[in-house]
Amino acid sequence: MTKLEARYDHVIIGGGVAADSAARAIRAASAEATIAILSADPHDPVYRPALSKDLWTGESADPDSQDLRTVEETGASLFTSTLVTELLPHSHGVVTARGHHIRYGTVLLATGSSARHLPDVHDDRVLCLRTVGDYRHLRTLATDGARIVVVGGSFIGTEIAAALTRTGARVTLAHSGRHLLEHMFPASITARLEQTFAEHGITVVPGFRLMGIGTGQELALHAGAAETLHADAAVLGLGAELNTTLAALAGLDLDRGAVVVDPYLRTSAPDVYAAGDIALFDDPLLGLRHVEHVDHAQASGAAAGKNMAGVEEPYEHSPLFFSDLFDDGYEAVGRIDASLEMREVWNEDRTAAVVHYLEDGRVEGVLLWNTWDSVERAREVIAASQDGTLDVEALDGQIPPG
Ligand SMILES: Cc1cc2nc3c(=O)[nH]c(=O)nc-3n(C[C@H](O)[C@H](O)[C@H](O)COP(=O)(O)OP(=O)(O)OC[C@H]3O[C@@H](n4cnc5c(N)ncnc54)[C@H](O)[C@@H]3O)c2cc1C
Repeated sequence: MTKLEARYDHVIIGGGVAADSAARAIRAASAEATIAILSADPHDPVYRPALSKDLWTGESADPDSQDLRTVEETGASLFTSTLVTELLPHSHGVVTARGHHIRYGTVLLATGSSARHLPDVHDDRVLCLRTVGDYRHLRTLATDGARIVVVGGSFIGTEIAAALTRTGARVTLAHSGRHLLEHMFPASITARLEQTFAEHGITVVPGFRLMGIGTGQELALHAGAAETLHADAAVLGLGAELNTTLAALAGLDLDRGAVVVDPYLRTSAPDVYAAGDIALFDDPLLGLRHVEHVDHAQASGAAAGKNMAGVEEPYEHSPLFFSDLFDDGYEAVGRIDASLEMREVWNEDRTAAVVHYLEDGRVEGVLLWNTWDSVERAREVIAASQDGTLDVEALDGQIPPG
């Protein structure tokens, strides 16, 4: 393993997609700059969305196939299993859990998110899916015929339940709402999804509010006195928490639980940047927000890297997000929030749709359901409606579904 030097031109804290993109952008701007990536993960950066998709459905189940090849392609020095415990903006230094002090010219915080666990459950049959280690562990539990309960009806829960059907496991998806992904989708799409899940043998249990898990010979997932699900393993898809402790301890400005950045991804401390999940940035279409999606991690990581290397380019990207569930897939931009007014445009055989999310007569978000190559157009529709040049009564022909 490479030895940690006392100083690097650029230090990147985190080993996810944002870190990888930042290292690439720094290297593109400067052939000579020294770059250190300090990552708590024991493995090299991987493309995280594959943990719940391609690795179950694609050609390879080996997470090494999702290695981003950061070191090979950027020449950065990567230090895995290296937790940074202190950021010292005034002395331009960081301290690792093993007591190494490293000085930097610029530093990027790309510490991402951690999966939300149940605090009192410590049993290796109960897990979340966030890291390569989690993925490998879930593979060992998902044997043919194993009863697996996935808890959570949002992105991760639905994706994991779909993925697990490929293993021969018997899958139950328990969630606290009435319908899957109901906080985002209109009833037409949630109904279709539930039908697809049933066709693939998944038992969907709505209204299940997990209270605790008994860890005897078999797992007993309790949702109050009346309802218990028994399982050989349980996967919790209960959302994620931003890893902002380091930023908070360093005294950086935080808002809405995220690290405040300016258009150049600079935080409130000199030469300290933030990107990816943890950054609270000014979205050109939707204003201040933090986004836990991979397109934003890639684009903001790249923008931060450029600025760290002195290129001076503002981050002006309105991120998209995507997911695949069996044969259906979607991309989306803006606010995909089912509490807004939703206007749906379907194709003739009702296999593809464009859903517009409206507030005060303006388009706030667009969902492209089985509709491809239309993200840029969706951004234009949102922008035109926001600046008043597109009347929402004329939405129908704007983006053809399919
Ligand atoms: C299973 C799964 C599926 C997903 N699918 C999709 C999808 O389909 N579409 C989509 O848009 N998004 C998806 N996402 C979300 C997307 O992957 C994330 O938003 C994105 O990867 C975030 O990138 P990041 O680099 O900001 O942070 P992360 O990928 O979370 O990386 C953070 C890194 O920081 C390290 N770290 C944290 N604290 C410290 C510290 N103190 N010292 C050193 N290192 C530290 C961590 O170990 C990790 O390496 C998915 C996420 C998961 C978990």
